[in-house]
Amino acid sequence: MFNLILFGPPGVGKGTQSNKLIEKYGWIHLSTGDLLRSEIHRQTPLGIEADHIIKSGQLVPDEVVIGMISSALEANPHAKGFLFDGFPRTVAQAEALDKLLSLKKTAIHLVLALDVRDEELVHRLLIRGKSSGRKDDSDETVIRERIRVYKSQTFPVADYYAKFGKVVHVPGEGSIDDIFAALSREIDGKSEKAA
Ligand code: AMP
Repeated sequence: MFNLILFGPPGVGKGTQSNKLIEKYGWIHLSTGDLLRSEIHRQTPLGIEADHIIKSGQLVPDEVVIGMISSALEANPHAKGFLFDGFPRTVAQAEALDKLLSLKKTAIHLVLALDVRDEELVHRLLIRGKSSGRKDDSDETVIRERIRVYKSQTFPVADYYAKFGKVVHVPGEGSIDDIFAALSREIDGKSEKAA
C-alpha cells in the first residue's frame, strides 16, 4: 500500500495532477474539497453549513473533514493506496489522519509539496473561476483570503511531516506533463526504496 499527500496552496494544480496520478497508479483519490462540493450539490445539512464557510475562504471545522475521510477509508478496505488532495489542511487533521492510518496498519509514505508564486496562484484561480462556476474562485478577495489561510493554518502541516522526513518539494510552474513527470519520479523513487 502507498499513501500520498499532494500538498500545496489553492490553485497550485493539485486537482489536475491528482487525476493523472490516480490514473497511473490506481489509488483512491480523496479530495475533501470534492467531497464537500458533493454535499453542497445534494443540499445536505452538512453541505448547507459548509457552503457559507467555503464562500468566505475559511476552513470547515476539523471534525467535519476528519469524519468524511474516516468514512472514505472505511469504504475502501481493499485500496492499493490513497491520494489525499486538499487534506490535511491543519496539524490537527494531520494528527487525526496518522491515527486513522495506523489503525489500518499503514501510514503516509510521501508528501509531495507543489510550489507556485502567489501572484500566479491568483491568476490561475481567477481563470479557473470563469469556467468552473466555483464562487470561491471568482472573487479576488476570497482567493487572497484562501492563500492567507493556507499560509497560517495549512503550511505548518508541511513542517509536521518534514519532521518525519516525508516532504519533497516539486516546482509547480511549467507544463502539466513536466510537473507530472517530476511527481512520478519522486513516487517511483520512494516506492522502490520501500519495496
Ligand atoms: P479545495 O477544493 O481543496 O480548494 O477546497 C475548497 C474549500 O473547501 C476550501 O477553501 C475550504 O473552505 C474547504 N475545505 C476543503 N478541504 C478542507 C479541509 N481539509 N479542511 C478544511 N476545509 C476544507
